Amino acid sequence: MASIFSKIIAGEIPSYKVAEDDKHYAFLDINPLAEGHTLVVPKKEVDYAFDMPQEDFKEWTDFARRVAIAQKMAIPCQRVGSAILGFDVPHAHIHLVPLQNEGQMNFKNERAKFSPEQMTEIAKRIATAFNQE
Ligand code: 5GP
Repeated sequence: MASIFSKIIAGEIPSYKVAEDDKHYAFLDINPLAEGHTLVVPKKEVDYAFDMPQEDFKEWTDFARRVAIAQKMAIPCQRVGSAILGFDVPHAHIHLVPLQNEGQMNFKNERAKFSPEQMTEIAKRIATAFNQE
């Protein structure tokens, strides 16, 4: 069965898209730790990130690096933090979180709330920066 992220990539479930190429898709986390929290996924479904072939992993992290650069341009933050966890969704994804401080990267924190209009606007800001790189 396709993962929820494969359904998002296929457009069967809506998402706030930030960036895409032929092998990768980046979209806002629906329960963000902070403004602009983005998930970067390979389109080819794999559960555990470190099972990926080296070349696929490299292309994926290169793409994520470009997304993080766009986030830093678009969202006021000190740094963009990254994490690979995958305890909830078995489709490899990198969390990229614009941070003001280290404490915001705690996945046990209460998640931030943004309206659909705000999420659309945040995604658009990052997408615009990504397309300017
Ligand atoms: P993890 O698998 O790394 O523990 O966490 C999965 C992440 O995916 C969570 O931060 C959660 O908020 C996010 N997530 C789960 N389902 C959806 C969804 O349907 N849409 C979006 N945009 N994010 C999701």
